[in-house]
Amino acid sequence: MLLSNFIGGKFASFKEETFIDSYNPSTGKVYAQIPNSSEYEINLAVEAAHKAFQTWSKTSRSTRAQIIYKIADILESKLDEFAKAESIDQGKTLEFAKNVDIPRSIYNFRYFAGHILHTEEKSTVMDNIALNYIQRSPLGVAGLISPWNLPLYLLTWKIAPCIAAGCTCVAKPSELTSVTAYMLCHVFKQAGLPEGVVNIVFGTGPKAGQALVSHPKVPLISFTGGTVTGKKVNETCASLLKKVSLELGGKNANIIFEDCDFEKTVDTSIRAAFSNQGEICLCGSRIFVQKSIYPKFLDAFISKTRQLVVGDPKDPKTKVGALISKQHMEKVLNYIELAKQEGGIIECGGRRIILDGELSDGYFVEPTVITNIKSSCRVAQEEIFGPVVTVHPFETEEEVINLTNDNQYGLSCSIWSENGRRVRRVAESIQVGYVWVNCWMVRDLKVPFGGVKKSGIGREGGEYSMNFFTEQKTICLAN
Ligand code: NAD
Repeated sequence: MLLSNFIGGKFASFKEETFIDSYNPSTGKVYAQIPNSSEYEINLAVEAAHKAFQTWSKTSRSTRAQIIYKIADILESKLDEFAKAESIDQGKTLEFAKNVDIPRSIYNFRYFAGHILHTEEKSTVMDNIALNYIQRSPLGVAGLISPWNLPLYLLTWKIAPCIAAGCTCVAKPSELTSVTAYMLCHVFKQAGLPEGVVNIVFGTGPKAGQALVSHPKVPLISFTGGTVTGKKVNETCASLLKKVSLELGGKNANIIFEDCDFEKTVDTSIRAAFSNQGEICLCGSRIFVQKSIYPKFLDAFISKTRQLVVGDPKDPKTKVGALISKQHMEKVLNYIELAKQEGGIIECGGRRIILDGELSDGYFVEPTVITNIKSSCRVAQEEIFGPVVTVHPFETEEEVINLTNDNQYGLSCSIWSENGRRVRRVAESIQVGYVWVNCWMVRDLKVPFGGVKKSGIGREGGEYSMNFFTEQKTICLAN
């Protein structure tokens, strides 16, 4: 499949005519070729977005919402097609793409279309002196940069609030997973989204991404990706005084107390550890278990991990698909080797899996459980972003709070306990942006989402996304 950029409502011809191979991770074969775009294409896209902003920013909320609802409806009618492409492009199971990625992408559009219809600005009367009211205005052309792990889900999590708010955008998806973003451009056309409101430019981070971040006519950047890249993006934005939102890496704790609902805890911990091959920024990859139930938990957890079928992403029995790339698979396997050097015990998994036939060159790794490792070791401190977890015993609340907070990241955490007061004490002491109690990855799009420490800056979701894409002006009318 040969992709082309989507600029000003057209599938644009491309100056350099050099393409990047994008692989199907489960076969190791090329699935798509994407334009290796540069500053030139970014400039064209920004110009198109600027032109469109003049009209789109003044288009009524109801018209914007109507078009965005239509995008959601068309996407929904093509759910199977999109899920199939996402699974081939990313390596995730078809089941996960069908039940998580694409439904959530549809909901991102529906949610923000509804949001702009049902919110109003505040006005306040100041005794009999004045009336203050707030005018909310879209900021302009936004640069949207997204990663490869939940390609359409995270791209639409930015595009939907951006265009609902009245901004226009230039989006750059990950060069590893561009196919569903390209398919989405056809949906935009079909839904009647005016030309130039969304422009999608494909290419690498250092070339197309950097050109977008540093473009003088792009006053705001919404970035989701790794912490090292986020830092670079932040440095560029700071020097140009841009508004920036950074959703970055995580090394999330899953804290299990002895009074938890045991079965539910084990089942959800398995999902939190290995969903999407562990390639979710929210995965619970550091599992802390209270000593009194540690042996029982470990037995149950290992036994359920062994039951997870790793294999063909198309097969409904498969629970763990392929990792995104050969390079990433090697990184994950290196962490497993490092764990051994650090004295860790590989309780299960630990190896690459070579499957038969067309999957023989795929990037499959067994779900891996590591114990006997200090929480201060690199494997328990750094983001592996694969199907690898470390399990650690603890005794007291204070100890587990310290262990959890002793990490550079602060994205999310799960707490398992039936004791409400304990839950509150722990939840309020943990340095993260999101705490799940007796659950994992239950998402309400109204609430603030984001990280602390090296997991990011800013919040997305509902009014928080709206605040990012708009500026509020107070207008004071004297009596
Ligand atoms: P990455 O940082 O390598 O790339 C993310 C995006 O940034 C890609 O589109 C890439 O092309 C682009 N990019 C790379 N260098 C750039 C540069 N110099 N300037 C501008 N753009 C550039 O991340 P990844 O490997 O694609 O994704 C995995 C990471 O994303 C993990 O760390 C994961 O935790 C994180 N993530 C965070 C969240 C969250 O909500 N906090 C969600 C998903 C993923």
